[in-house]
Amino acid sequence: MKILTVQTIAIFLLTFASIRGMAQHRDHHTPSRVLTSDSLVSGGYRLIFASNDAGLDPSTRQHLIDVFFTVYPQEVARFNKNSLTKVTFFVDTAYKGVAETGNGVARFNPLWLKKYPQDVDVVTHEVMHVVQDYKNYNPGWLTEGIADYVRYVYGVNNKGGGWTLPDLKPGQSYQNAYRVTARFLLWVEKNKYNKIVDDMDKAMRDGTYSSELWKKLTGKTVDELWGEYTKDPALELTYK
Ligand SMILES: [Zn+2]
Repeated sequence: MKILTVQTIAIFLLTFASIRGMAQHRDHHTPSRVLTSDSLVSGGYRLIFASNDAGLDPSTRQHLIDVFFTVYPQEVARFNKNSLTKVTFFVDTAYKGVAETGNGVARFNPLWLKKYPQDVDVVTHEVMHVVQDYKNYNPGWLTEGIADYVRYVYGVNNKGGGWTLPDLKPGQSYQNAYRVTARFLLWVEKNKYNKIVDDMDKAMRDGTYSSELWKKLTGKTVDELWGEYTKDPALELTYK
């Protein structure tokens, strides 16, 4: 995909302390110097790609950009057409997690990208948090389960990145979040109600989610669904 570079700006200071949604992390963050910031435009979307890592591999950077312009429009089209059209990526040497997103800014750990350069669908997961734009991110297991469901469905290099949805194991719960919940959502979608993720996502955004919604949509409570799932969890999964 051809991405137009509109501008390249050098060296400015950014502080993320004021960004809502990252507030819980702010004690660990000092303001980070941005070395490069590029504004890229394609198909009505703008990506600001900022980095303070002089060693970021150009091919990894391009890969992350390409994934954004491939998956974000698909996620917006399916889940939330009112999503932001401008998203910022910040590869930040001061950030020690894998990735996190708040208020239209996704922050990435350059050490992770260096160690796992094929794990580019971390973008697919993170930008779903921009699309989600939920009134209330509780329950967090559902928020993160939906983001990993989206990574499974729309990811472009899950196979190359070695990312899979693990088989169900004893002791797991739908509240485990991430891939465990994502696999459960796929099972519910296939066996019970094929709009489960769309409707759950919408209810979370509208602020109308409650645990009753599972019963309303499928005729079963989430615990009943999980019980059925654990008895027959087979799913045919394919990875791009
Ligand atoms: Zn997440």
